[in-house]
Amino acid sequence: MTKYIFVTGGVVSSLGKGIAAASIGKLMEWNGYKVAMIKCDPYINVDPGTMNPYQHGEVYVTDDGAETDLDLGHYFRYTNSPLGRISNVTTGKVYQTVITKERRGDFLGGTVQVIPHITNEIKSEIRDVVKKYSPDILIVEIGGTVGDIEGMPFLEAIRQMKLEEGAKNALNIHLTLVPFIKAAGEIKTKPTQHSVGKMREIGIQPEILMIRTEIPLSDDARYKISLFCNVEKSCVIEALDVPDIYEIPLMFRKNKLDSIILDKLCLKPKKKVSSGQWEKVVHIRKTAKQEVRIGVVGKYITLQDAYKSIDEALKHGAIANNLRIDLVKIESDNLEKKSPAELDKFFDGIDGILVPGGFGVRGIEGKLTTARYAREKGVPYFGICLGMQIAVIEFARNVMGLKGANSTEFDPKTKYPVISLLSEQEHIKFLGGTMRLGEYKCALKPGTKARSSYGSNVIFERHRHRYEFNSAYKNEFQRKGLIVSGTHPKGNLVEMIEIKSHPWFVAVQSHPEFKSKPDKVHPLFRDFLKAAYDYNLSKIMPDKFN
Ligand code: GLN
Repeated sequence: MTKYIFVTGGVVSSLGKGIAAASIGKLMEWNGYKVAMIKCDPYINVDPGTMNPYQHGEVYVTDDGAETDLDLGHYFRYTNSPLGRISNVTTGKVYQTVITKERRGDFLGGTVQVIPHITNEIKSEIRDVVKKYSPDILIVEIGGTVGDIEGMPFLEAIRQMKLEEGAKNALNIHLTLVPFIKAAGEIKTKPTQHSVGKMREIGIQPEILMIRTEIPLSDDARYKISLFCNVEKSCVIEALDVPDIYEIPLMFRKNKLDSIILDKLCLKPKKKVSSGQWEKVVHIRKTAKQEVRIGVVGKYITLQDAYKSIDEALKHGAIANNLRIDLVKIESDNLEKKSPAELDKFFDGIDGILVPGGFGVRGIEGKLTTARYAREKGVPYFGICLGMQIAVIEFARNVMGLKGANSTEFDPKTKYPVISLLSEQEHIKFLGGTMRLGEYKCALKPGTKARSSYGSNVIFERHRHRYEFNSAYKNEFQRKGLIVSGTHPKGNLVEMIEIKSHPWFVAVQSHPEFKSKPDKVHPLFRDFLKAAYDYNLSKIMPDKFN
């Protein structure tokens, strides 16, 4: 029988609820339990696929091609939870299903209402995950902050679920903030009291409170929170700010969160699963001495979460090479029309350049300048999705002399459409969920960097794009020194390219960043970081590398 852990958040958003939920998952796995995770998002979009990264952050893509919330990326990196289309429920999806049922006549004679029809659908979607994956424990994260109007049906649904599943089989964990007020020189528990009060109004009594705080919680503060929130003092858990997000599961375990959760769910540790690998990750992050500096050149730079999985995968690459990483986010708009001397200054000290995915024409010229710089100067370059398309366009313009070569996404009338719309996309009218999405097979060419990196002839990666390498130009590209290192066997779609005469210039149409974990790095990120480190050394000790 599956037990449920519901994770809600209060006071403010951005408390790291996704990482907290994922860390709870990790703790349960260390105790031998099979975990599945699901994220409920109260917004009305059916999925985040059509949202601007500034609104939502990264869109995380699953193997089965769902465009989902970035918290699923945290779940993937921290736990072994299976993840797919059913692992992200939104208000939009729930209403779409209920309205389709209504139009079909499923509720004939009845008035369709939030309670019970919407709440029933939410419960049924949560239970679908249990049916499909049969976990010992399902962790359900409710997005948003308690008190938001749109979150109410989800809270009502989990209230009902606890009643239906039985008190010992479902647990409510509430993550809140205890702010430190500088002027008063003390922490304040009132917002937490209000937040828990709000939950109790609708019939949910959190059993465990996780308190985000800048400074350690005093015994007094813990007592006060316990008293006003009606939560046992031992269940008021401190979640202190830590410098590294991968420390969080270890910190929670130190604060006995796992034994408290197991106790509340009437479970005993099943078997001890080693946390050694994870501890090693944290140790390397703390102690690695050599540093590499990686520049990520994108256009959603000001939003921290826009390239979340890429940032994390780069960290994983550094861990695998026993390195520290200095991630420099570079706004591509700033690189347009820079002279070679200005570029040298701009990229001074950068050991590797990554150009991530993206949509739309803004920032393109700056990315093209970047790819050219990396190609000509021998700086390791890793292009991801749009970053590959950019590399192809740059090569066409500056190596093959195809002046004005472009993607038809940015210039539909270009004379040289080296990147063009996938044929399957030609007649698509609706934009939501219609890209080439999810996992596709890719055959690797022997003797290439990609082949040696993956150590396999055939690999699978996830995708999210509408445009592709235009195969009409393939031979011409190859003649000029571009290597097509990976292709999708059906239709010969170009999936990976590299440049022969360059230390490490690899670009892929897929999104390998979605499949990297701190303790199981993606091979391309491992090798990109290694190349960046070698490049760094070659600058300090040029003789050794000549
Ligand atoms: N805009 C490009 C396309 O649709 C690249 C997409 C991406 O980088 N995810 O093909």
